[in-house]
Amino acid sequence: MILNIVFFLMGYAVATLWEHYLHKQILHAPTKRANRWKESSFSFYRFLYKGYYSHHVVHHKLTFQQHYHLQFNSQKEQEKLDK
Ligand SMILES: [Zn+2]
Repeated sequence: MILNIVFFLMGYAVATLWEHYLHKQILHAPTKRANRWKESSFSFYRFLYKGYYSHHVVHHKLTFQQHYHLQFNSQKEQEKLDK
């Protein structure tokens, strides 16, 4: 039983560290790197760019600006982004 808990905690730690690393390297990649992905002829890099754009730009810059649980501050703000 104790071994199961140890393996669970080790797996949780590894997953957390990977999530943190990938979050930083892909979802918050430097702009130059993201732009290279955007222009790439390889679909994998364009896929990475889509992740970067939807997370970094839309999630962190265009929405959830005042509160983690409130995506838009007003209906007008949402309509502006939906255009
Ligand atoms: Zn983020």
